[in-house]
Amino acid sequence: MENVVIVGTGPAGLTAALYCARANINPLVIEGVQPGGQLTTTTEVENYPGFPESITGSELVLKMREQAERFGARYLTGEVVKSDFSGKPLKLEMADGQIIESSIVIIATGASAMYLGIESEQKLIGRGVSGCATCDGAFYRDEHVAVIGGGDTAMEDATFLTRFASKVTMIHRRDEFRASKIMSDRVKNHEKIEIMWDSVVDEVLGVEDNTVKGIKVRNVKTDEVVELPVTGVFVAIGHKPNSDAFKGQIEMDENGFIIADNTKTNVDGVYACGDVQDHIYKQAVTAAGTGCAAALEATRSLEKYDA
Ligand code: NDP
Repeated sequence: MENVVIVGTGPAGLTAALYCARANINPLVIEGVQPGGQLTTTTEVENYPGFPESITGSELVLKMREQAERFGARYLTGEVVKSDFSGKPLKLEMADGQIIESSIVIIATGASAMYLGIESEQKLIGRGVSGCATCDGAFYRDEHVAVIGGGDTAMEDATFLTRFASKVTMIHRRDEFRASKIMSDRVKNHEKIEIMWDSVVDEVLGVEDNTVKGIKVRNVKTDEVVELPVTGVFVAIGHKPNSDAFKGQIEMDENGFIIADNTKTNVDGVYACGDVQDHIYKQAVTAAGTGCAAALEATRSLEKYDA
């Protein structure tokens, strides 16, 4: 049986791994289908403290991985598909059927930005198509960018992007925003923001050059198609927490985000950190911070059992 199993290898999971390894509690870290998490889908990371010249997302998580490994973290590749937290030991079922038992489970499975799913968009993710304005906005100084979506995230992203971009075009599939009035009004009244209502993106242009050159936007009411010469496309149509494997075992909100109080879930011995429990900040550095907190809580609780 394991002491601590950490599920997920983004900044939250790897920071938890580092702290658990240094506390000598011999963590096992499960690396899933997207090792490194969302950071590996961005290119340059300029807002992680300590890297004044910026660092690529992949390099940053690789360094975190190595750092935890240096202190003894062990890694297992595989996907957790089910869990049973009804009693001790806590149980995790892997896709290959293997059952892992542990005293403590730290869930750091993150969230996935939702994308439109069209082929050209998928090919250009991290190359002009982004799911995170805070991460990538500063690369678009004096450029024309598009934001897709009509919720609070889209409003926040569009407003944030006006700090850098010369122009922001919002593309929303209906004729009214879902977002709160105050945030919608800010967008509607902003001189740098133009709104295209009843509109969807049919294609992102630039696949042949591996960089965004524009988008084809179709009005769903008139079927008219226009080409916008944007260099950045920010998709803000929601995030999906990667919590399916834990459904029914711990408390979650209506969108599937795990409810955690200082990383403690409602189940004794189960902690959650990073974006799987955070739909507000969603940053690598905040994820790392909660990963540290989860590891400290886990370490304390093991000491309590040992005493
Ligand atoms: P939401 O689910 O609220 O909004 C998603 C938006 O994307 C909707 O306008 C939806 O359109 C649109 N959309 C969904 N799928 C597609 C698609 N396939 N193609 C085109 N458009 C699509 O997600 P958010 O991330 O905006 O917000 C999540 C939660 O976080 C909300 O509760 C929000 O209030 C909260 N939040 C709060 C903030 C704050 O208070 N500062 C900041 C950010 C988020 P449609 O409206 O037609 O369904």
